[in-house]
Amino acid sequence: LMQLSIPLNMIGYIYRELRQGLIDIADMFDLLSVEAEIVDAPAAAPLVVDGGTIRFEDVHFAYDPERQILKGVSFEVPSGHTVAIVGPSGAGKSTISRLIFRFYDVTSGAITIDGQDLREVQQETLRARIGMVPQDTVLFNDTIRYNVRYGRPSANDGEVEEAARMAQIAGFIESLPHGFDTEVGERGLKLSGGEKQRVAIARTLLKAPPILILDEATSALDTQTEREIQSALDVVSKNRTTLVIAHRLSTVVGADQILVLEAGRIVERGTHAELLAKDGLYASMWARQREATEAEERLRQVQEAD
Ligand code: ADP
Ligand code: MG
Repeated sequence: LMQLSIPLNMIGYIYRELRQGLIDIADMFDLLSVEAEIVDAPAAAPLVVDGGTIRFEDVHFAYDPERQILKGVSFEVPSGHTVAIVGPSGAGKSTISRLIFRFYDVTSGAITIDGQDLREVQQETLRARIGMVPQDTVLFNDTIRYNVRYGRPSANDGEVEEAARMAQIAGFIESLPHGFDTEVGERGLKLSGGEKQRVAIARTLLKAPPILILDEATSALDTQTEREIQSALDVVSKNRTTLVIAHRLSTVVGADQILVLEAGRIVERGTHAELLAKDGLYASMWARQREATEAEERLRQVQEAD
């Protein structure tokens, strides 16, 4: 029995890690034949997306009962619009994206897409309709081509390359000796966080889902990389229902609505201009990030002068 309990614990551990990575988990479970905790309701129907409006209605959630993570969260991402969530680390932002994928069920309240409660739809159809660019993209130990094509396995080489171009990563790939056939991952070329994110964006462009969730990398990116990623994100989110979990406030300036999440509650909401006028948490986060960017800029000027 002891011997049996060790591998089972490991499976649980790997499973939790994978869940945090949020990368086409449904497919991975097929590969691993591991059963997910959440099972479809007997009468579950396919999710029918018509526009893709996401609604959170008084959502409460806890990973474990002693510690509430979301404490009554309500918001809507109207069809084709972009809503951004900002807030301190640990506020529950990534948890919101995990709930939309239904990796967990809400404790109370409801999440709907075009009026369908997530607990009443087939998970496979839910995950097929949502594109996710996660915080940390896990690449397969295979070629860049394979990693991009994963978004739509039927895509031809031309489509893969076009997606890479739109995601602002084709130039980098073509500069490599083996181009799109370069092996990446554990045993291959190690890509930076920004490069991996653009591979994930290319993958998502191929998948062309009606609903998009972007969880930005926390790591500070240099201004050039940030600009490239931003324009890649603008391409991918155009005319799609998009929820952005943003660390760089420059990303959210153009959002239709910004939600400020703090300790599991939405404490402010509005457009960038409205939130600045409020002079609250968002305005102070904005001021702080401006200072950091300006300091970085000055440092670079000093270094360039040397
Ligand atoms: P954010 O993305 O805003 O930084 P998260 O949604 O990732 O925050 O996490 C919110 C809180 O939930 C954090 O305190 C985190 O430690 C906790 N948490 C996240 N994932 C799990 C998990 N799988 N089990 C237990 N607690 C978790
Ligand atoms: Mg997060």
